[in-house]
Amino acid sequence: MNGEAYSELKKKLGEKITLVAVSKTKTVEDILALYELGQRDFGENYVQELIDKHAQLPEDIRWHFIGHLQSNKVKHIISFVYLIHGVDSLKLLQDINRRAEQAGRVVDVLLQVHIGREETKFGFDAGELRKMLFMVKQSPGGWANVRIRGLMGMASNTEDPEIVTSEFRGLKALLDQWFPSDGILSMGMSGDYQLAVKEGSTMVRIGSLLFGKRG
Ligand SMILES: *Cc1c(COP(=O)(O)O)cnc(C)c1O
Repeated sequence: MNGEAYSELKKKLGEKITLVAVSKTKTVEDILALYELGQRDFGENYVQELIDKHAQLPEDIRWHFIGHLQSNKVKHIISFVYLIHGVDSLKLLQDINRRAEQAGRVVDVLLQVHIGREETKFGFDAGELRKMLFMVKQSPGGWANVRIRGLMGMASNTEDPEIVTSEFRGLKALLDQWFPSDGILSMGMSGDYQLAVKEGSTMVRIGSLLFGKRG
């Protein structure tokens, strides 16, 4: 993406919406080009790729982990990851908390909610989300090294804007219910970020629109 198109997208999103540039499969040079334009938030889906890129790129990049994180891999990214978007089980949250404690950090996370129609997408439903949040609230001392900052979700992969809109609206309602003041709402990708923004997204995860189609 050229500088002009990047500035236009940033302007469209405004100050209140964080742009996470999804750089999975893209090269260090691709990332640096966007970094030079001022971009600092980058999202990756795979642990090994994230480790390699983190080692080669500037220290002030804020690395978001947006993929499905396996518990046994948490330890590899815990020392530097900025925000983990896809926490979808109690076990994963426990492992993040434990590893963060060992690393002497408090790590920010989002809980993933299953809003789309695809069965394969990860995440909690509304009932499971309630259970998780109650459990955490009951023993705040037990969770001293994670901070649940908000929610993340992916809408169905469909051309129908009404379906996508209603899924985003449902996620926003859950955010308002559980994080009424300053929750982070990570929703919207290249194909649906405009609908997401309309429905109250505070963080969009955009890959192909910035970097071109992935091979
Ligand atoms: C790949 C990916 C994105 C970015 O998708 P684009 O359509 O390229 O913008 C956003 N969020 C998640 C979780 C992803 O895996």
